[in-house]
Amino acid sequence: MALQIIRAERVEKYYAQPSENRIQVIAPTDLSIESGEIVALLGPSGSGKSTLLRMLTGLSEPSGGEVYWHDKAISTADVNVSIVFQSFALFPWLTVLENVEAALKARGMDAAERRRRSLKILDTVGLDGFQAAYPKELSGGMRQRVGFARALVVEPEVLFMDEPFSALDVLTAENLRSELLELWQKKTIPTRSIFIVTHNIEEAVLLADRIIVLGRNPGHVRTDFKVKLEHPRDRKASGFTQLVDYIYKVLTQPDAQPPALPATPAGRRAHYQMLPHARPGGIAGLLELLLDHQGKDDIYRLADDLAFEIDDLLPIVDAARLLGFLTVTEGDAAITATGAEYANSEILRQKELFRIAAVENVLLLRQIVRAIEAKSDRSVPEEFFHDMLDEQFSEEETVRQLETAISWGRYAELFDFDAGRRRFIQPAKLSVEDEEEKTESPEEIDA
Ligand code: ADP
Ligand code: MG
Repeated sequence: MALQIIRAERVEKYYAQPSENRIQVIAPTDLSIESGEIVALLGPSGSGKSTLLRMLTGLSEPSGGEVYWHDKAISTADVNVSIVFQSFALFPWLTVLENVEAALKARGMDAAERRRRSLKILDTVGLDGFQAAYPKELSGGMRQRVGFARALVVEPEVLFMDEPFSALDVLTAENLRSELLELWQKKTIPTRSIFIVTHNIEEAVLLADRIIVLGRNPGHVRTDFKVKLEHPRDRKASGFTQLVDYIYKVLTQPDAQPPALPATPAGRRAHYQMLPHARPGGIAGLLELLLDHQGKDDIYRLADDLAFEIDDLLPIVDAARLLGFLTVTEGDAAITATGAEYANSEILRQKELFRIAAVENVLLLRQIVRAIEAKSDRSVPEEFFHDMLDEQFSEEETVRQLETAISWGRYAELFDFDAGRRRFIQPAKLSVEDEEEKTESPEEIDA
């Protein structure tokens, strides 16, 4: 497992209002940044990307939750990050060299060492010969090189970038991107992780090992997956364009459950849906309420009636949709025939309907059931599925996917999970209905 450098637990951000309502910008969110990865954070404008970035760097304090830097609360830790901004944010009255040196000065380094390091990094980013120039004498691309030099000269463990290429023309941006990638891949810079905020899908697919898509109102993680394409990446390759299309779909359907990822050209198993983290009890509650509302209602109104934050309700809606219990059009949830039957049934029939829907619609659950059946000891290690999911999702998302699968599988009595041995096993306890069936069968009576 890769080393976690930064870990955010249930971080959220809201702004107080004169009225009692507050503006929730980021819903409680878990997120970690691991060593060795380039993470791209994508999302529509105003979804809270910059806000999240600022909390992850320790620059801004969350309204709730906690950010850890190497397992230490970030507010008290010795944090080593730097940030590159879209606006370059250079001191206009300082030369290029002085701008870079200023970053080291802030860290209390002596003058000779400051100069040595600054000249070296200017050379690395292609600014050799521009030491004495002032920012206003430089093109946008050159100014952003100074921005990179200033960020890199402190040798940050994590390099954060907030839309660093957005203000540049296409060609300049492309050059800077590939140069940065080269520095990273050749380990010319000691940076161990890069976190880039962008609204450019191709940029994310070009650079990132992992992409997180943020939804808005309030900001929340919609999907978080690994990009398995080899570098250098070819924008015209089918794996590349498929991934771009996939992300485009996710972004343009803000109310929809993200579809399954396209398979990679290498044929890796990148085909799991992302299971929404909802409990079966929540799904039942939502369907019953929906039935009460003549089978159809606005999702925001449902959230209101349940006294749920919309962000807590959306995974439940997504889960019910994935199982075929409801459909969503233009913000309205409508119950399906199966959903209505589910809501009207008693518990055993509900479990049965859930079981059928789960096996039909959820690949991971189907695979777990098959794997158990195929084994003579009727048990399969969790690790087996962990490794498959890990190909596609980040470590923390893999863990959450497995937790959700276990909760659904247990409820539906598809399987049980032995937490001590970390193995999926046949359901330990059969439901009363199944028990009755069993005692009726002759073999059982003989036994
Ligand atoms: P992004 O970087 O994704 O475009 P931001 O993180 O900059 O989004 O902003 C997210 C949301 O937070 C925006 O809707 C913005 O209006 C809101 N916001 C930012 N600062 C404040 C503030 N001080 N008070 C109220 N709302 C704010
Ligand atoms: Mg922003």
